[in-house]
Amino acid sequence: MNIGELHTLTTVKELLQRSVDFGEPFEDFPVLLEIKELVARLETDMAAGREKNEIERAGASSFQARRIHRRTLNPWPKEVPVEHQDLILSALEKLSSASSRREEIYDLAAATATESSPKATHAYAKELVREENRRLAQDPHEAYNQRRFQLRDQDEHGGCSFNGYAPAAHAALLKALMDDAWRIEQATDDRRKDDNRTVAQRHADNLFQVLRWASQTRQDTVGHCSLVIGVTEEDEFNWQANFGSNVGIDLTLYDLELLDGHRITDYIVVHDHNGAVKSLVTASRSATFRQRLAMFSRDGCCAYPGCDAPLSRCEAHHVTPWSRGGPTSIDNLAPLCPKHHGWNDDSAVEAHIKMILNGVPIHVDDTGDRRRNNSPRARHSNARRLIDKN
Ligand SMILES: [Zn+2]
Repeated sequence: MNIGELHTLTTVKELLQRSVDFGEPFEDFPVLLEIKELVARLETDMAAGREKNEIERAGASSFQARRIHRRTLNPWPKEVPVEHQDLILSALEKLSSASSRREEIYDLAAATATESSPKATHAYAKELVREENRRLAQDPHEAYNQRRFQLRDQDEHGGCSFNGYAPAAHAALLKALMDDAWRIEQATDDRRKDDNRTVAQRHADNLFQVLRWASQTRQDTVGHCSLVIGVTEEDEFNWQANFGSNVGIDLTLYDLELLDGHRITDYIVVHDHNGAVKSLVTASRSATFRQRLAMFSRDGCCAYPGCDAPLSRCEAHHVTPWSRGGPTSIDNLAPLCPKHHGWNDDSAVEAHIKMILNGVPIHVDDTGDRRRNNSPRARHSNARRLIDKN
C-alpha cells in the first residue's frame, strides 16, 4: 500500500468518524456495507497464521479475536458475506468431532448465503449440524467405526507418541485395568511418599503396567519371544548405545531396564561381528540380560585366574548351585568360559569359584589358595578400573 492509498484510508476513517460524531448521515449506505465487508476480509488476511492471543495483542477484544481467528482457519468463498461466514462457523462449532462431513455441511450452508439472510443461513447451518449429530448418535457402530490407534515413529529422544480413539467397551476395559494398576500402585508404601509425577505421567505408568501384565501372561502361556533385542559382541555398553529390536524400535539400556530386567531374559539374541547368532538366551535358569551386564561391568571376562575369555563367551555360573537353592542373582553368579565352567567343582571341595566381599568371584584351588583373575581383560573391567582410580 502506498502513501496515497494510506491517505485515502485515513480520509475514509475521518469521514466516518465525522458522520458518527455530528450525526451527518453517511450518504452511500451500500458503500458503507462494502467497507465493512472489506475491513473484515482485510483483518482476516492480516490475522492469518497468528494465534488468538496475538490478535488480541494487536488490539482486538477477546470476542473479536476469537471470531477473526476462526475465520483464518476456514475457507471463505468470495460470495459469502462476513456475517454469514461468522454464523456458519459458529454453528459448526457444535458439530460432533466424530463427524467427517464438516466441509460438506459448510458448503451446503455457504451456498445459501447469497440468497438468504444471515439469520436464515444460521438457522439452516444449525439444523444441518443437529441432523448430523443425531445421525452419529443414532448409529450404534459409529464409535466402533471411529476406532483407531496410531503409534508414531521414534523422535529425537527415541520415544514415540501415540494417539487414538476407543469405543466405549474398549475404553472401559482399558480404564478398569488402568484403575487396577493404580490401586495396586497406591497400596505400595514407597509410591505414596515424594510422588511428584504429573497426572499424565501417573496415567502413563498405569498404562505401561497394563502392558506389562499383558506381556507377562502371553509369555507364560505362549512361551515365545514377543520382543527380540539384538546385541553384538562389539556393542558398547553405554547408556547411549542403541540396540535394534524385532519391532523396529531402537532401545537403549535405560529402555531395557524399563522393560523389567527379569523378563528380558527370553528376548536377547547375541550376534558376532558378522551378524551370526552367537547365543539365544531363552531358559529361565539363565542369568538375565541385566545380570550379564552387571557381570560384564564387574568381571569383564571369565572369572578363572589368567583367563581372558570375553563375557559374551561366558556362561553364568551359579556359585551356590541352582540345584541347592542358589539364586540367580548377581551376588551368586560368576562368568566362566565353557572350559573353566567344566573345571569347576560344584561341590566346593576341589577347585572352585567362591564369592567374597558379598559378591566378588575368586578362585579357590584344591590347596585352599585364593586367587583373583588378574588377566588384562579382567583388570580392564569397569569395576576394577573404578577401584584402581581410587
Ligand atoms: Zn575361562
